[in-house]
Amino acid sequence: MNNSWNAEVWRLVALLTIAIVVGLVFDHVLLFLCISLAGYLSWTLINLRHLHRWLAKGKKYSPPTSAGLWGQLFTEIYRLQKRNKKRQRRLVNLLARFRETTEAMPDGVVVMQANGTIEWWNDVGAKMLDLNYPQDVGQRITNLVRNPEFLSFYQRADQDEILSMPAPGDSNKTIAIQVTPYGHEQSLLTARDVTLLERVEQIRRDFIANISHELRTPLTVMSGFLEAMSGDDLNMDEQTQRSIKLMQQQSKRMYRLVEDLMLLSKLENEQKPIKHEVIAVPQMLQTLKEEAQVVSGPRNHVIELDVDETLFLYGDAKELDSAFSNLVINAVNYTPDNGHITIKWYEDESGRAVLRVIDSGIGIPSHHIKRLTERFYRVDVARSRETGGSGLGLAIVKHALNRHSAKLKIKSEVGRGSEFSCIFNKDAVTHKSDIRQVI
Ligand code: ADP
Repeated sequence: MNNSWNAEVWRLVALLTIAIVVGLVFDHVLLFLCISLAGYLSWTLINLRHLHRWLAKGKKYSPPTSAGLWGQLFTEIYRLQKRNKKRQRRLVNLLARFRETTEAMPDGVVVMQANGTIEWWNDVGAKMLDLNYPQDVGQRITNLVRNPEFLSFYQRADQDEILSMPAPGDSNKTIAIQVTPYGHEQSLLTARDVTLLERVEQIRRDFIANISHELRTPLTVMSGFLEAMSGDDLNMDEQTQRSIKLMQQQSKRMYRLVEDLMLLSKLENEQKPIKHEVIAVPQMLQTLKEEAQVVSGPRNHVIELDVDETLFLYGDAKELDSAFSNLVINAVNYTPDNGHITIKWYEDESGRAVLRVIDSGIGIPSHHIKRLTERFYRVDVARSRETGGSGLGLAIVKHALNRHSAKLKIKSEVGRGSEFSCIFNKDAVTHKSDIRQVI
């Protein structure tokens, strides 16, 4: 390009020199200069016209031919066009392949712009969410998926949360929805068909609820007989008495397990919203402390209570009593004799209510902490059996707290102790003074 530019300058200089020489010969330098410049300008205008016509006609036509700088310019533009066309073709192919891939996915996919405006979806997404092309393009997803649970889920904008709900396009199906933000205020909604999983889960829940219910009656009968037999020890030898005692212990353990299973499946199956009774948590904790002291017995734990006497909660007293009791009794069970346990109940700086159960016990290795709330998950199975634990305590805590939109946080250090915190949202908090005013 640089060479052509130099050649063009030389061409102009040569033209002007010839014009001056001829002008000198005929004694009309200015006239010949003007004629030669006019000629050069006309040639430039003709080339500009060619360029304009070529670009206006579209890219399909080959470039006009010309000499010098103009010829070079045409060739460069043509090369640039070809390179762009190639890149465009590659992008189109990539887009087509992306669409093919998302169409082949068994999950529904919806691409959304800012404010949840729908831009694109795949076939499965259209069927699950009942979206129609083209009228739903540019609509807000919350205007089309009319489900109150979906609306509050979408407004919460928590990308780790998954919502299960009936598919708007087929109410016999259950879908699990997740919204992931990306790019500039864009988000990707994925919907997965979990109908079968949900059914299996329901069967499992029903099975546990039924089996624990069915086991309770024979266990009660057996425990009753064992109780009666242990009282009437006159005709029994020592060996039989020991066997009966052992059977009594085991049936008590089984009874506790069945009770925990029933409570857990009740918490899991409960569809109705939780009760909104006012709970006097300070009194509840005082009773729990006394119970814990009884459980500790000769092990002589120091149990300290540090509560805000005015801080009450809205919720279900029975459910929260089970949750708090599990945490406090665990602290006793997993803290060596004469250990320290502190129960704190206070309002934090953001107005949330917090229960903290802190012990100076054996602690939990960090890799176990994530799994502690799973059913039957125990760090040390033998030790848990020894303490009479069912392995369901923390699962009950988690479910009871979930039903109250509260969170469980666990901190622990092996050999130094553990700290279990239940954090309740501001809207579940009330105060003793407010209750009196209402009354
Ligand atoms: P369990 O009935 O076995 O106590 P949980 O669900 O209540 O079952 O607890 C699960 C496991 O978590 C326990 O087996 C124990 O290993 C561990 N754990 C719970 N609380 C504590 C604690 N305060 N200190 C140490 N380990 C604990």
